[in-house]
Amino acid sequence: MKSKFIVFCLALVFSIAFVEAQTYSSIPPKESPMPMKPEMTEIWEPEVEVVTPAKVLGDAPSDAIILFDGKNLDQWVSQNDNSKAAPWKIVDNDHMEVVPGSGGISTKMKFGDCQLHIEFSAPDIVESESQGRGNSGVFLQNRYELQILDSYNNRTYRNGQAASIYKDHAPLVNAMRGPLEWNSYDVIYRAPRFKEDGTLDAKATITVLHNGVLVQNNSVINGITYYIGLHDYPESHGDDVITLQDHGNKTQFRNIWLRKL
Ligand code: MG
Repeated sequence: MKSKFIVFCLALVFSIAFVEAQTYSSIPPKESPMPMKPEMTEIWEPEVEVVTPAKVLGDAPSDAIILFDGKNLDQWVSQNDNSKAAPWKIVDNDHMEVVPGSGGISTKMKFGDCQLHIEFSAPDIVESESQGRGNSGVFLQNRYELQILDSYNNRTYRNGQAASIYKDHAPLVNAMRGPLEWNSYDVIYRAPRFKEDGTLDAKATITVLHNGVLVQNNSVINGITYYIGLHDYPESHGDDVITLQDHGNKTQFRNIWLRKL
């Protein structure tokens, strides 16, 4: 009788211990994984916005802001005095041409992250060399220069030739066409980010296709373009204008459009 009582007590203790272990164990009980179905990884909402692409690759899609269509400079002002009209000339209702010495031109609108398409041609008459030949530039947010230069058979420093981020990043290759032909830049630009206290959080980045050839592959822009000295981000800024540079050469432009990102 006594031994039966001991066996009963031991069984009771083990039973309680087992229940405790089941209740408080940190090891989760094994479950068989839920069988996946195709629709479990399909996202339907919200529906992706429709944008109608242009018939011709390089022309503006339906949601683009047209900055220049060859007809007028209504979207641009003088860089030196934004109350004045852009001082460059329209040629044949087809393109514009830099008027050397008149100063650069800036967009009326301000932009941050964007997709930009711009076409340009070096001056028809080839003059000078290195940085003196067909020099202009696209200043994103009025600060960061994507260089325009006649880099067709024209050596210069590699981080100052066409499609360079001027004095920051050389292009991966030289895809420049001759001075009687049109070039295109297709740009994906991500503006720099700043913290609330004004210090830099993330540098700007840029991807550029030159005539369809990748020349800047998500390059990190190291700051404001200076002719002399290392580039930096001295202060925070928001959206800003895009400026085209007058560097004293008759560079031509056409078909400029932008999509805000
Ligand atoms: Mg330039």
